[in-house]
Amino acid sequence: MKQLSQTIKDSKKIVIKIGSNVLAGRSGSVNKKVLHNIVGQVNGLIGMGKQVILVSSGAGICGVGAINKWSRRNDINYKQALCAIGQVELMMAYKEYFGDYGVHVAQILLTRDDFKDPHRTLNIRNAMFTLIDEGVVPVINENDSVSVDEIKIGDNDTLAALTTTLWNADLMIVLSDIDGVYDKDPKASQDAKLIELVDNAHTLEGSISIGEKSSFGTGGIETKIEAAERVNKFGIPMILLNGTKENIITESMEGKGKGTLFLGTIER
Ligand code: ADP
Repeated sequence: MKQLSQTIKDSKKIVIKIGSNVLAGRSGSVNKKVLHNIVGQVNGLIGMGKQVILVSSGAGICGVGAINKWSRRNDINYKQALCAIGQVELMMAYKEYFGDYGVHVAQILLTRDDFKDPHRTLNIRNAMFTLIDEGVVPVINENDSVSVDEIKIGDNDTLAALTTTLWNADLMIVLSDIDGVYDKDPKASQDAKLIELVDNAHTLEGSISIGEKSSFGTGGIETKIEAAERVNKFGIPMILLNGTKENIITESMEGKGKGTLFLGTIER
């Protein structure tokens, strides 16, 4: 779709959220091929003069892969421990792949409180701007090992939306394991239709049917629609793409990829 491709072309500051299912390989390991390809695409965007902040899920999966245990994965402290282990693995992979292009990465781990306290928010904002000015790619994730339910943002779609508005980005891209938002769950119904353009994310609620989220996912499609509402309110568009597809961002920019574009038009 031309509008989708033009939106990416026109955007200089882009937040890209990478979902757990995009990074999850078989048997609880991180899919390095996919990660490597996404890093290559981000580097391509940087080469075009764009600035990118990544919001990356996948620490839990990397933790499972690292210590090779599934058994107690539903216990909260065990989950937090897995994320603490996996976060290191995840950052090592980013460091290695971006290193191939001579690009540095920086880790920022956040909780809900960081967006509530103006002092902390300002500090994060300054750190982000400084990193970007220095040509470093910030990789943001929720600080899972200190976040219990009460203080959790809870899903990285929301975290990415908060980051997008804080940085005043031009575009937020969400990479998931489906081509976009459908009128019903594409994994459950083969005749589900892709919705390529959404004028007002709010109107989707009630008009589409929402199925199960995938095995590693936390928010499902609901939090992606809410994230679109959140950024669209500030006039920032959001695009949902299938991050498991090779070169999806660059292909979409060339008008070859499919996805859902949530227009960021402010109603006046
Ligand atoms: P991620 O890890 O990328 O955040 P989630 O599992 O949280 O992914 O959310 C994406 C999943 O939402 C898809 O895999 C899809 O099966 C499911 N889903 C349910 N209903 C819909 C719908 N109407 N349109 C698109 N996806 C849907």
